[in-house]
Amino acid sequence: MPLALYNPKQSDTHPNHKDEKVLESAKFTVYKFNSRIKPIRKDRILIIGCFSEFGCETVGVTYAIPRLIKRFPGMYIIAMGWYGRDYLYRNLVDEFWEIDANLMNLRNYTFAFHHKSINLRHIEECASKHGTVVPTEVLGKYAVGNTCKTCGAFWNEWRKTTKNCARCGSTNIVNSLFGSAEKYRKTAKRIPFPSKDKFEWAKNVVTEPAVAIFARGRKTYGRNLTPEFYVKLIQMVRKMGYHPIWMGEKQSTQPCPVPDVFDFSRCEESRDLEKTFAIVQNCKFTIQYWTASSRIAGLMGVPFLLFESPEQIYCSGFGPAQEGRRLELTSFGEKKVCLAHYLKSVKEQDKLLYYTKEAILEMEQGIYTDMITDLVKDQEAVQILKTEYYKMVN
Ligand SMILES: [Zn+2]
Repeated sequence: MPLALYNPKQSDTHPNHKDEKVLESAKFTVYKFNSRIKPIRKDRILIIGCFSEFGCETVGVTYAIPRLIKRFPGMYIIAMGWYGRDYLYRNLVDEFWEIDANLMNLRNYTFAFHHKSINLRHIEECASKHGTVVPTEVLGKYAVGNTCKTCGAFWNEWRKTTKNCARCGSTNIVNSLFGSAEKYRKTAKRIPFPSKDKFEWAKNVVTEPAVAIFARGRKTYGRNLTPEFYVKLIQMVRKMGYHPIWMGEKQSTQPCPVPDVFDFSRCEESRDLEKTFAIVQNCKFTIQYWTASSRIAGLMGVPFLLFESPEQIYCSGFGPAQEGRRLELTSFGEKKVCLAHYLKSVKEQDKLLYYTKEAILEMEQGIYTDMITDLVKDQEAVQILKTEYYKMVN
């Protein structure tokens, strides 16, 4: 069956996969999560590729992988994925194969649920010596496609809930995750909460009331803000009575520009995702701009503030963006989404700061409706997009 997945049309800064240096070998660390004996027969072992973008990976672990596993009862399950992500898989699979930290640059070749990396493809091919491999992009099928239980048809529809099969008209269909996010959210297999020990450890790391800042520092797609902006943000957050803590994976996060703010992203311990979750649990909320790190708070049920472009959130119309759907599936607490375009915001950083403050003040009052800032190209058009979007998905 054909697999149509989102292919971003807008020019981006993904490295050209034709220039990718072919690796001689790739090192993995194996995490064994239980005492189950690994079968000798290869066809009893399922190896799931999890080399997607973080926002999609979280949809994978909470929805797509549990569903996939249900289809193969009794099989020995191995997830194969990024460095430092073992915690996401601990309660889900028998083993996690973690790629070497030095190979995290391969993330630059990922697009949503799939990748265009020669090396990652090679790794997935090589893994088939050990079991049946489900490549990364297959998980995306659950996200964007409907399946008919009557005739077996599979077709793409993720903007809204489909009631009838496109081929036979049957109503006995399994909807795509994105198409019925509100329905599926109740069925999520939540990431486990950090242990009591780690929660207590985190209590000593933060000063309350704490706010976590995740500062995007990616090569792919750009969309980073300047260190000067973050200096001002930290000053402002402090003036508002909060104690900022600097978070994120060091491979995709800027270093903290203010020396007396604790930079957890550069600590050896930030490698432990459970500790990251535990710190966020001890925060009032997290702040981020154009990045999927909001998932950390979302998965823990902690409120977060996110600036994102309207096309990413209100995916009505013809745009391929699905961030709004992914957020719906993986936010289990309150979320404050501010609509702003990156290019306009980066030119008017004081205004971005102003809206950040406004949004925090609203969050303090329990107001969690989306905020359309005038850092979008056309406020009126965004208002229409927003209305249409909520009409469509509710
Ligand atoms: Zn059908």
